[in-house]
Amino acid sequence: MHELSLCESLRHVVLGAAHGRPVMRVAVQIGRLRQVVPESLVFCWDALRRESAGVDGLLADAELVVEEVPVTLACSDCGAQTTVADDLVMLCPECCSTAVEPVTGTEFLVLTIDVREAADGDAAERPADHPAGRPAEVARVGG
Ligand SMILES: [Zn+2]
Repeated sequence: MHELSLCESLRHVVLGAAHGRPVMRVAVQIGRLRQVVPESLVFCWDALRRESAGVDGLLADAELVVEEVPVTLACSDCGAQTTVADDLVMLCPECCSTAVEPVTGTEFLVLTIDVREAADGDAAERPADHPAGRPAEVARVGG
């Protein structure tokens, strides 16, 4: 199942970034070309959370927030850049050329990972540090 393998990768990335701290919230950005159903992803994630609750509990409270990114196509024939409503038709809406490349819509990015800091004990939530301030891209899995 596509969403399940994505969740497994996500768990790996999240736990790696959390450094043993309990995770409160994970925000991800997923392009529509990934053909991920956000509800299915959250469903699978919730299953991992229940599993985590019986192991180390680090993900037990980790809410998953999914932001979908629409598909934008760049046409190499007429130069138009268009956000398309139907992401299954890879066709330039301006000139009907098939020489289009997706500019957006292929994302699978972890935007923020909120963890509970153990040191100050008052459930302060802070985003995990990302190298160079850029979101880490989850390893490309499942095509
Ligand atoms: Zn065009």
